[in-house]
Amino acid sequence: MDIHEYQAKEILAKFGVETPPGALAYSPEQAAYRARELGGELWVVKAQVHAGGRGKAGGVTLCRSDHEIQDACEGLFGKKLVTHQTGPAGKGIYRVYVEAAVPIAREIYLGLVLDRSSQRVMIVASSEGGMEIEDISAQRPDSIVRSIVEPAVGLQDFQAREIAFKLGLEPGLVQNMVRTLHGCYRAFTELDATMVEINPLVVTRDNRVLALDAKMTFDDNALFRHPQVAELRDKSQEDPRESRAADRGLSYVGLDGNIGCIVNGAGLAMATMDTIKLAGGEPANFLDIGGGATPERVAKAFRLVMSDDNVQAVLVNIFAGINRCDWVAEGVVQALREVQVEVPVVVRLAGTNVEAGQKILAKSGLPIIRAGTLMEAAERAVGAWSSDLNQNTRVRAV
Ligand code: ADP
Ligand code: MG
Repeated sequence: MDIHEYQAKEILAKFGVETPPGALAYSPEQAAYRARELGGELWVVKAQVHAGGRGKAGGVTLCRSDHEIQDACEGLFGKKLVTHQTGPAGKGIYRVYVEAAVPIAREIYLGLVLDRSSQRVMIVASSEGGMEIEDISAQRPDSIVRSIVEPAVGLQDFQAREIAFKLGLEPGLVQNMVRTLHGCYRAFTELDATMVEINPLVVTRDNRVLALDAKMTFDDNALFRHPQVAELRDKSQEDPRESRAADRGLSYVGLDGNIGCIVNGAGLAMATMDTIKLAGGEPANFLDIGGGATPERVAKAFRLVMSDDNVQAVLVNIFAGINRCDWVAEGVVQALREVQVEVPVVVRLAGTNVEAGQKILAKSGLPIIRAGTLMEAAERAVGAWSSDLNQNTRVRAV
C-alpha cells in the first residue's frame, strides 16, 4: 500500500527525520489559511497524489502570497495529475500540502528497499538527488552508494557514517545524516515498509538536513498489525478495479489488454498471462480467485472482470488440487447465468473431478468454449476474441 507524501513525512518525523513545517489542505481557501498559520513568506504548494514526478508535471508550485497559493490550488484541486509514474489516466488531486520553502544547497537521493538477492534491506543513496533514481543510475552510476543492513544487528553507526562520508557531506552534517538514516531504517522495519524514499533529501543553506519529499510503501500482508498505517489508505488513488477486488478478498491487478483471466493460484495466473501473450493476445488482468472457489466467489470474479470495458473475451483456467472441478464448473455456470457476460468465454479445467466438471459445462447449454490444455485455452481465447471482432460466436448469458 502506498501513502501520501505528507503522511510519510509525518511518520518519518516521528522517527527523527527532519522535515520542513507544512500543513494539509482540502481547498484553495484552506491552503491560503494554512500558509498564514505556518508563517514565513515563501511556500510550496504540492499536489498529494500517489506518484512521483509531480514537480515536472506542474504539481509543485513555489508561491509568494495568498493569491499565488489560491491560484496554484485552483489549478490542482479536482484535476488529474499526469506524471511519468501515473500512466496516461493520471491521479485525482483532492488534497494539497503547503510547506515552507527552504533554501536548498544540495539535493541527495536516499532510498531504502528490499534487495531480493541479498534478502536484506538495502540503503541506496546518491549525491545526485532530485533526479529519478533510474536516471541517476543511467547517467551517473558512480554517484550511487549502496549499503546492506544485517538484520540481526540493524543499521550500525559506522555504516551510516560511511554512507554520509561517501556522499561527501561535510563533517558538521554527518551526525544529522546518521540520525536521518537511523530514522528511515527504524520506520522501515518497525512498520513493515517495503520502500522508503526521500528524493530530495536536502542540505539547506543554513546547514540542516531536511526531507523535502517522502514516499513510503507498506507490505499489504502486514497491515493488520499496523492499524495506524492501514487507515492511511486513500482509495481515490487506487485503480478502482483493484480496490473493488481488494474489498472482495480477490487478488487482482488491472492490465491494458482485452482478455480477462479468472484463475486459481498466483503462479498459474502468471503462467496463464504468459501463455495468452504467447498465443498473440494481451491479458486484461491478473486475477487469483484462490483456493476454495465457491460458485459465489467465481461469480464475484466474473463481475469484476466484466466491469472492465476493455474485456473482449474471458479465459477461465482452473487447476483443481484441493478444489474440485465439478464445483468450479457449477460456479462458472451459475456465474454465467447471473452475470451479464456478452463476450466469448473459454474454460479449461484440470485436476480433481475433471470429467464431472466437463459434464456440467456441457449440460448447461451455455455456449462455453472448452479447452483441454493451457495452450489450447489461450489460443481459443485469442481466436474467439479475434473472431468475435468479426461478429461470430458470442455468449449471451443473462
Ligand atoms: P516529485 O518528486 O513528485 O517531483 P518533490 O517533492 O520531490 O516532488 O518536489 C519536486 C522539487 O520541488 C524538489 O526536487 C525540490 O527541488 C522542490 N521542492 C519540493 N519541496 C520543496 C520545499 N519545501 N522547498 C523548496 N523546494 C522544494
Ligand atoms: Mg521527489
